[in-house]
Amino acid sequence: MSTITEQPILGNVHSIESFGSVDGPGVRFIVFMQGCRMRCQFCHNPDTWQINDPKAKQRTADDVLQEALNYKSYWGKKGGITVSGGEPLLQIDFLIDLFKKAKAMGISTTLDSCGKPFTHDEPFFSKFEELMQYTDLVLFDIKQIDNQKHKELTGQSNDNILELAKYLSDINKPVWIRHVLVPFRSDYDEFLIRLDKFIKSLNNVDKVEILPYHTMGKYKWEEMGLKYPLEGIEPPTDDRVENAKKLLHTEDYKGYLKR
Ligand code: SF4
Repeated sequence: MSTITEQPILGNVHSIESFGSVDGPGVRFIVFMQGCRMRCQFCHNPDTWQINDPKAKQRTADDVLQEALNYKSYWGKKGGITVSGGEPLLQIDFLIDLFKKAKAMGISTTLDSCGKPFTHDEPFFSKFEELMQYTDLVLFDIKQIDNQKHKELTGQSNDNILELAKYLSDINKPVWIRHVLVPFRSDYDEFLIRLDKFIKSLNNVDKVEILPYHTMGKYKWEEMGLKYPLEGIEPPTDDRVENAKKLLHTEDYKGYLKR
């Protein structure tokens, strides 16, 4: 009688950063997943967009964990593994496998997501609930609070992204909210004030970060033969960054997880 052997779950991994210091608490091993359906005009990683890019490496959770463990001695009390992208939630089965195994080893897990794949529909929602059991922190991007402007900036609506923010608040999952400040797109007091109000309605926010838009990924658009949508738009001035920090009251969020 033949036996059926279970196929390992494979993740399409774009790249790895062994010593990440900005994507979560402490020093972290960052796994960048391949694939994203958003089309943010400021994206500095358009090479992560294509869902089935043959250049991505297919890897198992065990294989990724084994590599990550080489760096464990650098993590200290706060560090660990962050999965970013691209959009990692497009590969939720792989994430569950990876984070479940990481938590069994006592490793801190952080998910860095734009939230777009989130839905209360099945089978996604049950999988997401399971993933949250093994996730310590979510780095959550809110790119524009205004839905119409969000569509212009990212090609997608923000309805289910805000729905996810509320869900994470309901289950009390710690989040760091990150907002890319883009002149002529998101850097308007009106939108920042609305975003502040939305963030204040949540009860799980550990930290709020302003990420000033930069043009370092522009060459990738050009290499891919794509027209750069923010041509001529310069990064925000220090004054505007300070203004955004004030309007979002970033000082009020203590970032306890970072200490
Ligand atoms: S969600 Fe992230 S990876 Fe996707 S287009 Fe936007 S910035 Fe790029």
